[in-house]
Amino acid sequence: VAFERINLNSIIRSMEMMVRGILRQNFVLDLRLAELLPNIMADPVQIDQILVNLAINARDAMPEGGTFAIKTEWVSSHADHPQSIRTTETVVQANDLVRITVSDTGTGIPKDLIPRIFEPFFTTKGEGQGHGLGLSVVHGIVNQAGGTIRVFSEPGKGTTFEIDLPACVGPI
Ligand code: ADP
Ligand code: MG
Repeated sequence: VAFERINLNSIIRSMEMMVRGILRQNFVLDLRLAELLPNIMADPVQIDQILVNLAINARDAMPEGGTFAIKTEWVSSHADHPQSIRTTETVVQANDLVRITVSDTGTGIPKDLIPRIFEPFFTTKGEGQGHGLGLSVVHGIVNQAGGTIRVFSEPGKGTTFEIDLPACVGPI
């Protein structure tokens, strides 16, 4: 892996056609990229892998189509730069995060299965369809980059993955 200073918005834009290719017909791709987004330290190839794996799972969870949304945010708990007053001059501070939220309007995940989805080889898909590695790979990449991943899911409504990665401190 080759960690470098990268901007998540640029990577997402460069992957848009790839994601559209995975989703194909009957899907809306809803991109909401933050105007100001700090850089992160990560391997761009691994970020591509995260987006591909999450898009494949979303597509599989929406057999009739639906909406796949990708959102980026600069999350900061520092009181001196609330989102409303941030500018290109605002300095990224320690513990600031870049959050990417990926959601679908698919089948959702039953509550009792949630603790297992990041396990390698856990799959609910049929023979030859899923190897159960997608989310374990995503989890591994996020951990390696010093981040966290959370999942929120409601059966019948959809699923949301929230990934937080440490922002590069300094001028944005
Ligand atoms: P695979 O896709 O090969 O089954 P993954 O590790 O990518 O393996 O996902 C594991 C399991 O988690 C899936 O089989 C599915 O049951 C569940 N899952 C993952 N993403 C979603 C999603 N977006 N919506 C519903 N279920 C999901
Ligand atoms: Mg998968």
